[in-house]
Amino acid sequence: MKQTKVIGLIGGMTWESTITYYQVINETVKEALGGLHSAKILLYSVDFAEIEACQSSGDWEKSAAILTKAAKNLEQSGADVIVICTNTMHKIVPQMEKELTIPILHIAEATADSLLRQGIQKVALLGTKYTMTQDFYKDVLTQKGLETLVPNAADIELVNDVIYQELCLGLVLEESRTQYQRIIQELKDRGAEADILGCTEIGLLIKPEDSSLPVFDTTLIHAEKAAQWSVT
Ligand code: GLU
Repeated sequence: MKQTKVIGLIGGMTWESTITYYQVINETVKEALGGLHSAKILLYSVDFAEIEACQSSGDWEKSAAILTKAAKNLEQSGADVIVICTNTMHKIVPQMEKELTIPILHIAEATADSLLRQGIQKVALLGTKYTMTQDFYKDVLTQKGLETLVPNAADIELVNDVIYQELCLGLVLEESRTQYQRIIQELKDRGAEADILGCTEIGLLIKPEDSSLPVFDTTLIHAEKAAQWSVT
């Protein structure tokens, strides 16, 4: 097996989780190729404050323009594939794809494939309020044949607040872990067989041993998928 492809990462959303992408991609390539091999990576890291301002004002077109510019920059610099290091910003993948000649490795598709390989059918989804309440992400899971459960309205706010006010700022708090554990248990009681950590920072708070459900960490799944894609 020979590594031939360059992975173009769009990171900084937030940089707390982009670090994990960089590490996991390199670890996976090293495992696949051995020796001194490491991943060929181009990283375009955006200013998350600009992206978050677009999200909260509902200006998805502006965020699409920012990320499309980043993706084209990576393409022109030699990237063979684009990896967007956030679940939420996959909302604008259709706009980005129109402007690119290289593929985007979709985080929800990679995660759905991983769940299906484990025979899971009904899954809990934790992420930002955009990911949990809008259709752009859940539709990908549905098209793959999965049934998705999300927390109740109050807990959607809680999960979202922990992401933006704590995890995206590098704060990992025990009391928030306890709240997430309660929410995961409630989703389990409603019939979920597994739990998608559908925000790239949640893995900083919830490890497999913290969850009463099997955990599917989108950051790890997406990063491993990108690495495997680059070495085949
Ligand atoms: N990284 C998070 C996600 O995976 C949230 C930050 C963002 O809104 O991009 O959705």
